[in-house]
Amino acid sequence: MSYEKHIENLTDIANEQIQVEVVRLQLKLNRIVKQLLLLLDTEDGLVLQQKNSIYTQIQRIFSEIELELKEAVIPILNESFDSINEVISQELSSKFGNIKHKSISKRIGLTSKNILRNTPLGQLFSLQLGADSLKNTLTIASSMKMDIRMLEKSITVIDSEFLIDKFKKSISDFILRHSRLSISETAQDNGLNYFIYTNSLISTSRPFCKEHAGKAFTIEETKNWVNSPLLNMPEKWKPSYIPLVHMGGFNCRHFPKYITESTYKALKLSQ
Ligand SMILES: [Zn+2]
Repeated sequence: MSYEKHIENLTDIANEQIQVEVVRLQLKLNRIVKQLLLLLDTEDGLVLQQKNSIYTQIQRIFSEIELELKEAVIPILNESFDSINEVISQELSSKFGNIKHKSISKRIGLTSKNILRNTPLGQLFSLQLGADSLKNTLTIASSMKMDIRMLEKSITVIDSEFLIDKFKKSISDFILRHSRLSISETAQDNGLNYFIYTNSLISTSRPFCKEHAGKAFTIEETKNWVNSPLLNMPEKWKPSYIPLVHMGGFNCRHFPKYITESTYKALKLSQ
């Protein structure tokens, strides 16, 4: 199997395993929140002012689910990054001999107890928004003496399947993006300069990917990608676009496949 297909498959497998855990925890969250509703102070089915302990309990529920989520998801991510790492190492060392390559998990500090807030990784796992949203809903319900059944309907962490929504689309992108980060940092560390924009095209491939797939480039040539009309990047996102990490954008399934200078020159003549 080709290197890019191999990484794509490993990403899909990890994503499926993670979704199973996320669905399980969403159901658990729904169950706990419903139990919490039974503890609310009400009068004739109307929600009264709540004790502070309810808010403390909400915070605790979300912190516990967050911890459980990390304990379930991080080992799956680590395992998939280990396998992807192996694929990347084999691919690079088959062409360039002994390559210095730090594992993806180490590059992004992915350990079960050390996930920094205010980083993309911390944001992915943080459930603080869910806790805040539930607390706000409860405060509003208390202040207007909402019907308890109405309250149950307006709790969006259950309705919108908060956890599932949060993880559904972002996990593949997370794995693919960090695989590319590892590839491009390894390339940088080892002075590699030529690559092919690789992986096949699918019906939903973006115009930018259709234009670039299968072609050879130098690192220097990627500096203008951000301004390509085909990429159609909004101005506000341009400063954070890293060509060899984000490539065609969110959930892009393309990879830089590094090649030697002579391969580059040969390909450049034919494209
Ligand atoms: Zn793409």
